[in-house]
Amino acid sequence: MKAAVYHGPRDVRVEEVAGPSLDPGEALLKVMYCGVCGTDIKTYRRGHPMFEPPCILGHEPVGEIVEVRPGQSAAAAGCVSAGDVVAVAPYVPCDNCRLCLKGRQEMCSSKAGIAGAFCEYIRVPGEVLAKGVSRLPEGLSPRVACLAEPIACCLNAIEAVPFDPGDSVLISGAGPMGLLMLELCKARGAGTIFVSEPSETRRAEAERRGARVIDPGDGDAGHQLKALAGGDGTDAAFVCVGASDALESAIASVRPGGRVNLFGGFPGGSRVTLDPNTIHYGEVTLLGSFGFAPRHFHMGMRLLASGRLDVAGLLTCEFSLDDVVLALDTGASGEALKVLLRMNGHE
Ligand SMILES: [Zn+2]
Ligand SMILES: [Zn+2]
Repeated sequence: MKAAVYHGPRDVRVEEVAGPSLDPGEALLKVMYCGVCGTDIKTYRRGHPMFEPPCILGHEPVGEIVEVRPGQSAAAAGCVSAGDVVAVAPYVPCDNCRLCLKGRQEMCSSKAGIAGAFCEYIRVPGEVLAKGVSRLPEGLSPRVACLAEPIACCLNAIEAVPFDPGDSVLISGAGPMGLLMLELCKARGAGTIFVSEPSETRRAEAERRGARVIDPGDGDAGHQLKALAGGDGTDAAFVCVGASDALESAIASVRPGGRVNLFGGFPGGSRVTLDPNTIHYGEVTLLGSFGFAPRHFHMGMRLLASGRLDVAGLLTCEFSLDDVVLALDTGASGEALKVLLRMNGHE
């Protein structure tokens, strides 16, 4: 089969590789579309400790189940049949380790998962079939279903900072993740949503979606935001960009008792400066979110199926697997929002 093999930073090649072989209780997915994620782009640009080359990137696949190998994996039996079009979560938790038992499945220390999906076929292990596969509901486009995984990550962050209906929220960064977060905050009933973003086109996109936008280049963003939010500050903030000044502004912009969620990954070696008294006297909570648990993935699929999220417009660019380098370069340029790859001749 054809696969985009990552050989190191700026070196991804489309190659012919052996297709996956199945063990009993596993399924074969013929990939239709796969989202290009910020993590794929970061890995392509500068490498990533989680991805040792050579390997195949891509973890947001949607495709058709073409074979289910009978046999064990009682848990997975009957989850899918050949012909089902499904979205597949890239990993699922064991539900048995200390972190899972603490309710932190997204941090599970022995996850099961799929291999990279920038290729034509992937093997879906029994655990993933049992916990992390969702049939596409009638009417949901397979392209849009690629957003189930990034939405799941946003829902994990919102669960960590469960603001009330009407609360004001700051979102730093209006890339694909920031804009998805904006849609999800709207769906949860946020009041005023502020978006801080340096790119004019991305600010315009956030504004079109109902946000009040500010340009962090216009002086002290934290104080500007505080003033805009009525002097007191916003109730919650989601930092969807790996930039120290964005995090510092977010901490400065929340009200006493407010919560700041660090949602974007930072380049290694990053440092931030913060006034500890903001945390102490202001009782500000700073916490991070990474990844998702199966409940967030399935919740994301239900939200997508409801049609309540205005997300189709985020899928701005699509390339065939043969043009994977162009897809990654386009994602890295910051000019596109969400980039998709299509496989197996899908148009
Ligand atoms: Zn992703
Ligand atoms: Zn676990």
